[in-house]
Amino acid sequence: MDSSVYVFVEDLRGEGVERVLDRISGYGVRGLTVGAAHHASRDVTPHGLSRLTIRHDGAHFAAPHDLFARLRPVPGYLDALDGLRQACTERGLKLHGWTVFLRNLTLGEQHPDVTVRDCFGDRGSLTDLCPAHPDVREYAVALARAVARLGMDSVVAEALHFRPLKPQRSFVPLGPMDAYLFGLCFCDYCMARAADLGVNAEVARDECARIVGGVLDGDPPAQGEVTRAALTAYAGPEVVAYARARSETVTTLVSEVASAVAEEGSRLVFIDSTGAVKGYTDGLPTPGLAAHDAWQLGVDLVALGDLVPAFGVLAYARDAARVADDVGAYLRSVGKDREVRAVLRPGYPDSDSTDRLVAKARGAKAAGASAVDFYAYGLVPHPVLDRIPTALGETP
Ligand SMILES: [Zn+2]
Repeated sequence: MDSSVYVFVEDLRGEGVERVLDRISGYGVRGLTVGAAHHASRDVTPHGLSRLTIRHDGAHFAAPHDLFARLRPVPGYLDALDGLRQACTERGLKLHGWTVFLRNLTLGEQHPDVTVRDCFGDRGSLTDLCPAHPDVREYAVALARAVARLGMDSVVAEALHFRPLKPQRSFVPLGPMDAYLFGLCFCDYCMARAADLGVNAEVARDECARIVGGVLDGDPPAQGEVTRAALTAYAGPEVVAYARARSETVTTLVSEVASAVAEEGSRLVFIDSTGAVKGYTDGLPTPGLAAHDAWQLGVDLVALGDLVPAFGVLAYARDAARVADDVGAYLRSVGKDREVRAVLRPGYPDSDSTDRLVAKARGAKAAGASAVDFYAYGLVPHPVLDRIPTALGETP
């Protein structure tokens, strides 16, 4: 079974490429998935150079100038990946380039016009670049090419779709459907694309503003999770049609990115964030399977199954049966012949023991996963990482 460990460039800088690779080889994994372009974050790093690591938005390589136009990668640690390809090859490890595409506060602050705009006309999510904006699409394709050119066996795409609303504070009890409507982008490009598909985008926007505005004024929030049926009952068919039209925006973008990556001699692994939205905090995902709810972020897995060779499933769950269910549902959506990789967290909050990790790796394999990836080297104590060899040994 194929496998890899996710690694941050800060891990490589802290411990050194050789030491990290020696450890990872020792786990028996087949490869390394390195954060070539990542988003800003502040993380507890138990065995890092510092115990709190501040990450900046950044591409950790020298980006070729001719590839990029208006939006250019934010320079990160430009030498962080030097020698890594060679060192992986010497150890027989594959190297995958983990790339965060449309989550980038630095670019959003530099170019607010390319970020998402809510139903009230506000740009309050500068972290989220809109996948409908032509400059963003051009940037995404160029970034994918640049990472592929580093000699990556695959380009692992994160945040190559719409993202959910994430305010840092809300003392208004927005229900899941209210938050969803509040998170829909109504920029000119999104509205034009929806209109091209026969959706009345103005009606959809006004309806979202009416509902969310009502809750902000004291109406009771919506109850229950977001489903197509519940959303239709709550917000009407035009809003649902608008939300579904976002899939065309994402599908065409992912298609362009996948083609560009293939032209550069690599392959795209597409990760949608739905599994993280559901289970990131506590490993107790909301009931709907990730594959069934991915449409909410504009991700049409059935359509993408024809365009993308491989998918990563963020199986952020404590329960091995849930991991298997998520992997199975993914394969039914994207097609049985597609490569589906289950991304597992070997420790807190998903795995409290080696046995639990083993059960989840087994569950993923039994459900048809062709690989398991472990997230992530620098975030997890060494004794937890030491569970990986057993998990792989039990699922050869
Ligand atoms: Zn938009």
